[in-house]
Amino acid sequence: MPQLSPLIVSTEHPQAVLSGLAPGAQVRFEVVPLRDKTQRREHSAQADANGELAVTLGTDPGGDTLIELLGVDGAEKTPLHAFVTSPELAGRLPLRCDLHVHTTWSDGKNTVEEMVQRAQALGLDVIAITDHNQHGGSLEAIDYAAKAGLPLLIFRGEEISSSSWHLLAIGASERIGVGEGRNTPEGIYPTLERVHALGGHGFLAHPYWKTSGTHHLVSAHYEQLLESGELDGIELFGDVDWSDNLRSLARYLALDPSRRPPILANSDTHAVGHTFGQLYTLVWARERSCEAVLEAITEKFAVACMFTPSGELLPAGPFELVDLAFFLHTNRVP
Ligand SMILES: [Zn+2]
Ligand SMILES: [Zn+2]
Repeated sequence: MPQLSPLIVSTEHPQAVLSGLAPGAQVRFEVVPLRDKTQRREHSAQADANGELAVTLGTDPGGDTLIELLGVDGAEKTPLHAFVTSPELAGRLPLRCDLHVHTTWSDGKNTVEEMVQRAQALGLDVIAITDHNQHGGSLEAIDYAAKAGLPLLIFRGEEISSSSWHLLAIGASERIGVGEGRNTPEGIYPTLERVHALGGHGFLAHPYWKTSGTHHLVSAHYEQLLESGELDGIELFGDVDWSDNLRSLARYLALDPSRRPPILANSDTHAVGHTFGQLYTLVWARERSCEAVLEAITEKFAVACMFTPSGELLPAGPFELVDLAFFLHTNRVP
């Protein structure tokens, strides 16, 4: 069965290698950029003694490119795809991140160990245990994953939960909680200062979450927060309430692109079988480390992903990243 690698190709070196061909075979194939079928080109070339053949892909318009083998027995039914993109993006590592997970440290149903195991089984790369005004669960998770030798990256985390706002503190060195006098809409500003002083990032959780039918966050306060530039990002999608998430997306898209904050999608799961794995942020990091993940989120190399019950991907973010997210999902790239 012919195969193609790599699947993500830089416009600087737009080449992939077809392998699994008959040694020395003359191969006819078509290269079809799916963004512009008028750019399709037919080629004919000879596989080497190992049954391999280098294929040059078009760089304009790039994106998902079909390499269709013509007249090779049985191969027509095997669509081969590569994604052509900028050297910057091609050189990065896609990581699935869920930075909002609850455990029995607050109102979650499962223990830290159970949630970490589940994250691993779901194929997530990065998580943060973020219990309400608790930090200890995240430390337990880091400790457990290290002892169990799991490759998961785990942040220190806490969901600082007031009656007027919820704020995800990611990477802060200590528990923060809602301090004296901060259980007010304005209390989020000194809280954010505290998060930053402790080396953390502050992401506004679920801006359009409703409790008892009303929005938890007052819209004028959200506008002020966006205006302030104090947030390190927003949870564009959180939990699986589509109306909340689509309102959140509509508000985000109404902002001038230069003023859009970094985005996350998180499950806000409260049990192993709840929303875990149905929402995550796909982050393109320079390397597999917590620092690189936060840097990539800040640089907006991130797509907020949620899934329909039938498994269709609904991504939001910059076009090239969304297009690549679809490619990774369709081609089941790990
Ligand atoms: Zn919350
Ligand atoms: Zn939560």
